[in-house]
Amino acid sequence: MSFTKKIIVSMILGILIGVTFNLTSLIESSLGTYVTNLLDLVSYLFLSSLKLIIVPLIFFSIVCGIVSLSDDVSISRLGIKTLLLYTITTVIAISLGLLFSSFINYEPIEMKNLDSVINIENIETDGNIFPNNIFKSLSDGNIIHLLIFAVLIGISAARIKNRIKTFIQYFYDFNDVINELVKLIISFTPIAVFCILAKTFSTQGIETIMSLAGYFFTVVFVLLFHFLFTFSILIKLFTALNPVKFFQNLKDVVIFTFSTSSSSASIPFTLKAAEEKYGIDKSIGTFTVPLGATINMDGTAIMQGCATFFLASLYGIDLGINEIITIVITATIASIGTAGIPSAGIIMLTVIFTQIGIPLEGITLLLGVDRLLDMMRTSVNVSGDLCISCIIASSENKINEEVFNSRTL
Ligand code: ASP
Repeated sequence: MSFTKKIIVSMILGILIGVTFNLTSLIESSLGTYVTNLLDLVSYLFLSSLKLIIVPLIFFSIVCGIVSLSDDVSISRLGIKTLLLYTITTVIAISLGLLFSSFINYEPIEMKNLDSVINIENIETDGNIFPNNIFKSLSDGNIIHLLIFAVLIGISAARIKNRIKTFIQYFYDFNDVINELVKLIISFTPIAVFCILAKTFSTQGIETIMSLAGYFFTVVFVLLFHFLFTFSILIKLFTALNPVKFFQNLKDVVIFTFSTSSSSASIPFTLKAAEEKYGIDKSIGTFTVPLGATINMDGTAIMQGCATFFLASLYGIDLGINEIITIVITATIASIGTAGIPSAGIIMLTVIFTQIGIPLEGITLLLGVDRLLDMMRTSVNVSGDLCISCIIASSENKINEEVFNSRTL
């Protein structure tokens, strides 16, 4: 069986077993506790190993990428283009969220208590965009700081690359070792996907989704719309690539990110796909993918737009043109500031709600369905990173079209 098929089978089995556990209350028996603990352990080990390699993976691949960057690619041009495209797609995503939500007539529902559910510890408090102590940034896992540091080291090394050949060779060798480790960890994906999904679906009841059906299905619809239409239009407009192939190559990445609900934890997997499935040159992918995983969150922006509209309606708050502009601006900033970890997007909603004057208790309402929405929006977040990476790579002539076109369903 191919790797993709294995992942799909484990995904289906994970969901089926999770739902069965939930519906039959098996989860409350001693067997249920034993199985949940086991699922928890495997999920934890897998996600931790992925997070473990993020820092060295990004550092070595960016430095090697920049050193190997041919003189025709300017790193500042690459940076500006990437940031611009990431921001534009985020603004499109929020606008779609608000637009489609405005067609829905929401009925008020009962409010619960906020304190029990929101985990404030998850909020990233370090507002400094530029690093001043790289060791602290590394231990905090601050990806933006790491990116800036790696780019600076890469540029400096590239300037004297003829003098430091042995040093550069060491970097390439380290890079190879890390890539080997990535392959090893990723080979466990089918088992991990099964455990993560079985665990999630055994704890999320179907009835939670039903009570918030309107909001839930609006978000799902807009996510799908953005995924299918915005990304194909962008690929069609800015590249000579075939959008259908773009989606075909995305299959594994979507399933993987659906299971992890974390753009950051998915970086190793996404990078591998960028290179091996899309034919994106390493020198481009190692820059655009980790940056996108950190700041480009189209799916999160869609959820934030829909959630703001939904709760504003429930609380009877009128959204005029001023409020809409405020939402688009704050949601763009909030989604950029959202960490690529599970549930970070819903916590960042507090920023938008404070601006618009929506009571924060409203967030508790959304939490019941947020785990499932998180899985879907993370897939859209990472697909957006790959879409922009293809556009950038194609504009720099750094995409191997033979590799891009080589997959079939
Ligand atoms: N889980 C999302 C991600 O990692 C962030 C979010 O909660 O929206 O991309």
